[in-house]
Amino acid sequence: MITFDEAHELMCHDLPLNPVENVHLAETQGRVLAADIQSDMDMPPFNKAAVDGYACRREDLTQPLQLLEVIAAGQQPRHKITAGHCSKIMTGAPVPEGADCVVMVEQTETTDELTIDIKDTKTKNNIALKGEDIQKGNTVIREGILLQPQHIAVLASVGAVSVPVYEKVKLCVLSTGDELVEPEIVPGPGQIRNSNAMQLLMQARRMGVEANYGGIVADSEEACRSLIGEAVAKNQVVILSGGISMGDFDYVPAILKELGLKIHFKSIAVQPGRPSVFASSGNKFVFALPGNPVSSFNIFELLAKPFLYKLMGHNYQPPRLLLPLEADYSRRNAARHGFVPASITDKGTVKLISYHGSAHINALVWATALASIPLNVSTINKGELVDVRLI
Ligand code: AMP
Ligand code: MG
Repeated sequence: MITFDEAHELMCHDLPLNPVENVHLAETQGRVLAADIQSDMDMPPFNKAAVDGYACRREDLTQPLQLLEVIAAGQQPRHKITAGHCSKIMTGAPVPEGADCVVMVEQTETTDELTIDIKDTKTKNNIALKGEDIQKGNTVIREGILLQPQHIAVLASVGAVSVPVYEKVKLCVLSTGDELVEPEIVPGPGQIRNSNAMQLLMQARRMGVEANYGGIVADSEEACRSLIGEAVAKNQVVILSGGISMGDFDYVPAILKELGLKIHFKSIAVQPGRPSVFASSGNKFVFALPGNPVSSFNIFELLAKPFLYKLMGHNYQPPRLLLPLEADYSRRNAARHGFVPASITDKGTVKLISYHGSAHINALVWATALASIPLNVSTINKGELVDVRLI
């Protein structure tokens, strides 16, 4: 059995990154940028009015000013500002030559249509200078960033329309178990509905992986051999659930070996989620997760997610918080690193969600986080800080 940190290191260390493709700017949400991007211009590209007001010379502020013109955003000024003059200017418009400040319109009075009195003679400049944010050639966004709206805005601002990103991982989800039926079927005696496939597919898809469903695999060697073999041949990553424990019909690890995959680990000191298999052959990878839905959810979040992001060029750091525990916690056995479904209360405390065993799927409905209970820690008192990762 290896520790959680060892499993993470083993999986994410030295991975070959996926190839790069160029996609249109509008298709980059959730993709990982594959090259640094430079600005093709200064920003702002010209000296720009930061407020609506009057562009003029600071040395003239104590005298009435004669209006030259009105400059709208998007227009070029026609007049240079000379002594005793001003131009009315809108936010975002180019500041005319000769002006060194823009007085806010609220700080002025119009005596007649063409004469302006300034009330605030100590005004700020209110000019955003050419290139003060970014200069042409500066890197505006770096390789490895998981693109979100704020990043895509930056790409748009520098005209990066064809964007290099890492190719999506192509992944197949398979569920093993003779007891499983698909959700549209009413389970017969001894049967349960397959909930893991949907859970794993959605966990993969929400992180931008191209995930498809390969169906239910019967608990027989032949079924495992042919369906897992086919999925491995057609996909870069296969995620299986079930069939890896000590049961008489748990064939998955043996079949993975038979298919030529190397098994890197079969169990991790994590609770829930201990029996988890990670195998690979070249650039093909298989995760076989426990059938219990809370366990498979956990291991996907904790290990499959950073691994899949890494293949796509991103070093995933889960959003984490250190928050006080809502109520005393204790556990009998502290030999594994616990990741307990939890929610964050209105008071900003962490409430652990009681779940009786890893099959208690409904516990996850209330969870917005997984609370980390470190190895060898068996009690945590109310008010002590716990590390939670948001899910
Ligand atoms: P296994 O890991 O195959 O021994 O399964 C452990 C437990 O998880 C059993 O109670 C299974 O019925 C349940 N289980 C396995 N696969 C699924 C699935 N796809 N959806 C829901 N529950 C499952
Ligand atoms: Mg099973």
